[in-house]
Amino acid sequence: MRQIRGSSVSYDLSQKSYRCKSAFSGRDPNYKGIGHSEAKQWKQLEYGEAVCGYVAQLKERVVANHIPASSDPKLQRIKELGIQCYVCHPLIASEEVLGTLSFGSKSREAFAQAEIDLIEKICEQVGHVLERMLIMEELQHKNRSLEKAIKEKEALFKLSLSLNKKFREIFHTSKDAMLLVCCANRGKPFFYEVNAAVVQLLGYTADELKKMPPKAIIAPEYQQIIDHVAQTIEQEKKMTVEVSWVKKDGEKIPVDLSISCHYFQGRTYYLIIARDLTERKAFEQALIEEKIASERANLAKSKFLSMMSHEMRTPLNSILGYAQMIELKAQGTIHKHTGKIKNATIHLTNLINDILDYVGLEEGNSKVAKEPVNLVTIIQDSINMVMASAEINGVVITSNIHPASSLFVEGDPLRLKQVVMNLLSNAIKYGGTSGLVTVLYKEMKDKARIEVRDNGPGIHDHDLERIFEPFYRSDEVLNLTEGRGLGLSLVKEFVTQMNGQYGVESEKNKGTLFWIELPKANVTTEAPLAPFLKEKDKKNFKVLYIEDNEENRHLLKEQFKVFFNIELVTAADGLSGLKLVQEQRFDLVLLDINLPLMDGLQVCKKIRCLPEYQEVPIIAISAHALKKDIQYALESGFDDYLVKPVDIRSLKALIDQYIQKTATPALP
Ligand code: ADP
Repeated sequence: MRQIRGSSVSYDLSQKSYRCKSAFSGRDPNYKGIGHSEAKQWKQLEYGEAVCGYVAQLKERVVANHIPASSDPKLQRIKELGIQCYVCHPLIASEEVLGTLSFGSKSREAFAQAEIDLIEKICEQVGHVLERMLIMEELQHKNRSLEKAIKEKEALFKLSLSLNKKFREIFHTSKDAMLLVCCANRGKPFFYEVNAAVVQLLGYTADELKKMPPKAIIAPEYQQIIDHVAQTIEQEKKMTVEVSWVKKDGEKIPVDLSISCHYFQGRTYYLIIARDLTERKAFEQALIEEKIASERANLAKSKFLSMMSHEMRTPLNSILGYAQMIELKAQGTIHKHTGKIKNATIHLTNLINDILDYVGLEEGNSKVAKEPVNLVTIIQDSINMVMASAEINGVVITSNIHPASSLFVEGDPLRLKQVVMNLLSNAIKYGGTSGLVTVLYKEMKDKARIEVRDNGPGIHDHDLERIFEPFYRSDEVLNLTEGRGLGLSLVKEFVTQMNGQYGVESEKNKGTLFWIELPKANVTTEAPLAPFLKEKDKKNFKVLYIEDNEENRHLLKEQFKVFFNIELVTAADGLSGLKLVQEQRFDLVLLDINLPLMDGLQVCKKIRCLPEYQEVPIIAISAHALKKDIQYALESGFDDYLVKPVDIRSLKALIDQYIQKTATPALP
């Protein structure tokens, strides 16, 4: 329902006075000429129910004479007021009904035509006046809102002015280089503002820069990137990009640009904050160079260590071999002294082994095997091997080992022995004289645990955190006991590679406990022992040894004669060795790798080409002890690999093994 503004203005002919009343007064109580409380008394009628609403709807006047006689419901209200005749006329301006104007009389019964015509004229005039009033009112209202909007704009403008001032202050005092690039509609971009830091960085004056196209300061190799930024910045709003700027003197400087896009008065502005990356880049470059240098140094160190150990192994081989021979034959003081030479050689050999293991670990090529290993045998063997040094130090070793028992774990027998030996020799070394070392093994649900405990002075908390690091030794032991600081780092590495765990607990002046845990293997019995080497089997067993070092040739020949009672034929180089294998049949070939003219690997290949030597075992004897060297030799046709200095027992075990293979099976 459209609301009609203005209401009935009634002219009381009997009173000769106008009264404003409104059938819609409840909807427009503030209408001029009618009081709020008075308006409230009027019953609210729906539009069209009252005469004025009806007139407004039809845009036609209603003339009602002789009202008391009428039954028209619209006239009931008028009738109640005691009105006898009534005229309600629409107030129309520009074809719009603005209200109605009513005239009524309580004393007369009807209006004369002249009066009705007059009313029509009055209503026409009132309509125009009302329209003007309304227009005025509307104008005033619009004016008021306009004034309000202007005030708000003024406040905003003041704020933006002060912000602009602040922005300019920040812009021009910033230590970071800041540039404002402006891009007018379809026009070419230009530097609108540049700060002092830019001028200092690039060497151009602000005026020079403002005359240059912004892309002129970008190095040619970054032009494409900047084109891409220009295309996407409007969507992205903010972007960062690393480019090079070209200074006035032509020098290039790496910069990190942070670009944001802004719009103001129909123009697009790009605020660019640039950070000089010269120092950071130089630092990064220095780091890269440092890394390369340290990798080179590391490689050189590894090469040096393996070369040095190789050089040391050859003479050590002779020393150990002869010492073993003399020790086995001699008696009394000579026996004792050679025992010491042998022990010192073993110590030196161990040092070389540790260094090589460490180098191997660093290069990532020291892998451990995972096979069932009897933990009890390993512990027993390890105790046997350190017993002598325990006795010298007055240390007593106790254990819960039952020689006949077995407990199998998944691991590498050699590495595991090395681990247990390291822990045991540390316990003896650091446990103090007259100490007690206890070795326990425990079977757990799916793993087995070895504990090595001593009652020595213990380890400080700050050392405990570091003793598994390579080359770390606590201050207390530095000058007191010899050591390399490598043992525990190898324990850590080997145990981890065997999928095990390790740990240490220590209490000052009470002692230290080292433990390792390894996954249990799925076997419960040991592999059958190799049959004992029978004298008759080795009678016809012939061995060839190709080695350029005369000392080593002589040593092995002696050892074969004295301990093995096996004939050893020797050759000083690959060619004479090859000649010998073609002339005679050998059951086993021992071959040095580092031979002059034709190296051991080539000799091995040539021997393997001879039809009768395809199955004959060829064992490498070499001072090269890196895992990768061994691996390569085994892949090139060797059956086994012995590292110099050769342990006489290991060599014997190996020869036993091959004699067994070539021997005719013994009758039951
Ligand atoms: P090394 O024994 O050659 O010094 P390790 O790596 O085996 O090297 O040991 C590192 C350090 O840990 C030792 O130098 C010593 O300070 C400390 N350590 C190892 N075992 C013990 C122990 N049982 N008691 C006291 N300190 C020990």
